[in-house]
Amino acid sequence: MPMNEGPPTGRNAPPNLADYEAECAAFSWEAARAGLEGLPGGAGLNIAHEAVDRHAAGPRRERIALRALRRDGSVQEITYGALRELTGRFANLLQGLGVGPGETVFTLLGRVPELHVTAVGAWKHRSVFCPLFSAFGPEPVRTRLEIGRARVLVTTAALYRRKVEPLRAALPHLAHVLLVGLEGAAAPAGTHDFDRLLRAADARFDIPPTDPQAPALLHFTSGTTGRPKGALHVHEAVVAHHATGRLALDLHPEDIYWCTADPGWVTGISYGVIAPLTVGATLVVDEEEFDVERWYRVLQEQGVNVWYTAPTAVRMMMKYGAEVARGYDFSALRFLASVGEPLNPGAVEWGREAFGLPFHDNWWQTETGAIMIANFRAMAIRPGSMGRPVPGIEAAIVRRTGAAGVEVVEEAGVTGELALRSGWPSMFRGYLGDEARYRKCFAGGWYLSGDLARRDADGYFWFVGRADDLIKSAGHLIGPFEVESVLMEHPAVAEAGVIGKPDPMAGEIVKAFVVLKPGLVMDRDLQRQLLAHARRRLGAAVAPKEIEARPELPKTRSGKIMRRLLKAQETGQPAGDLSTLSGDA
Ligand code: ATP
Ligand code: MG
Repeated sequence: MPMNEGPPTGRNAPPNLADYEAECAAFSWEAARAGLEGLPGGAGLNIAHEAVDRHAAGPRRERIALRALRRDGSVQEITYGALRELTGRFANLLQGLGVGPGETVFTLLGRVPELHVTAVGAWKHRSVFCPLFSAFGPEPVRTRLEIGRARVLVTTAALYRRKVEPLRAALPHLAHVLLVGLEGAAAPAGTHDFDRLLRAADARFDIPPTDPQAPALLHFTSGTTGRPKGALHVHEAVVAHHATGRLALDLHPEDIYWCTADPGWVTGISYGVIAPLTVGATLVVDEEEFDVERWYRVLQEQGVNVWYTAPTAVRMMMKYGAEVARGYDFSALRFLASVGEPLNPGAVEWGREAFGLPFHDNWWQTETGAIMIANFRAMAIRPGSMGRPVPGIEAAIVRRTGAAGVEVVEEAGVTGELALRSGWPSMFRGYLGDEARYRKCFAGGWYLSGDLARRDADGYFWFVGRADDLIKSAGHLIGPFEVESVLMEHPAVAEAGVIGKPDPMAGEIVKAFVVLKPGLVMDRDLQRQLLAHARRRLGAAVAPKEIEARPELPKTRSGKIMRRLLKAQETGQPAGDLSTLSGDA
């Protein structure tokens, strides 16, 4: 029996590696697919059916699917049964507007249940759903709507006026704009009232036969290393969302689950919408922005069992100290996971200090659609490691050879490119409008991730850095993560970003940017201490030669440090595409 089909293991149950080995050995994608229901009468596979309709038709009908914490302080609860009706209404609404299957429905919304309704309703109707960050400025919104040939956009009146209306004329494909939350106010010219149309639409919608290979999701990458790419996913991806939700996040149907990722990027949809709904859990949907004390309150008051967050948030909490956390009751928490950036060993351990539980790091990308490498519930965590491949995934360290070849590095401990044997269900099927770039991601049956990593003798993978961020200094290849982790071990450092700074002698020297803990200033003495600490831990060849304090580091809206921007600022070179840079839009 799969290890988490029964009730959840207790908070303090010891990890059992044997369970994991057994589950891995028994796992196949065919079996995982058979664990889903499929459309009635063998009519294919549709994300919306697995996420909502099959629960609504069964004993989980009255279970709360979404518990939305609204900005005005109210709490809105939506059962699986009600979500089925709302999403049925949205699918009918699309039909009524004359939207065809395969056309794209975008959202420009924060973390609100209308987003869930739009996404699941679009899948029912067999449209392609694409979320955008509500904080994007007008230009990033326009380019993405254009690349995705948006037919429908669901947003708010305020966002529409600021970000879409000025550029609407440049978007001839955009036929319908639906505004959420008008509350009786008149819809501006060229838009519709989302809530009114929803109410008027029929709640019953039987999902038509769906080809598992039909496009379902378009996601733009975070743009950490360059211009964001639009990765396309198909309905079959739900097999991977469901399996990894259970295996890598330890999700059970009884769980209260909170994913803090913004729905504007892939985590917020794969694990903020699809995976937990397919399991039948209750999702906390928090409209507010990050705030340490409020987040602790949400964990406590909502009784969150499984929590999926990101290193940038963990480090922000660490900045305020574990004492703040100790004032709250986290006894409901059972599993903590993190994704998006390397999770330094200090942050993994800090979880134990603050919550009594370690953070489980996992690795994946917009392109992979679902978690690929993880520290599972049932295995011993190695702090600083991304974990081991999830069942069904074959990962390897490879070296590129010649024009289009790759060679697998069998030896443990060697740094190379992280590659995945292609063919898993949530693998992206293309970069929209960029076929050549898509093809370049594959060689010899492998998908090449563009990330560098090492595998140890026990099969754990260790992140080294993105290929684009690698530093070449006096003949050494240095991954920024190793240096950043060591800097963050120092009690004065809250966050670190490391780059290669051009140098006539060494090619590049290692330069570190750090954010200090609250109340500290960088003086000569602290600078000397930090340099000495890094040299002691890393050796002179790898340790930074320069350290500079910054009030904050430039990040993408998904919370990733933009090292290329630090480098551009340092060298005075053009910064490239900054459409996903965090900050006020
Ligand atoms: P772009 O491809 O546009 O530069 P991006 O790669 O940041 O943006 P995403 O797909 O959102 O866009 O992020 C995936 C990347 O995030 C991975 O390739 C990896 O570099 C990083 N990442 C994700 N999880 C982890 C992790 N657990 N440890 C280390 N790095 C991670
Ligand atoms: Mg990427």
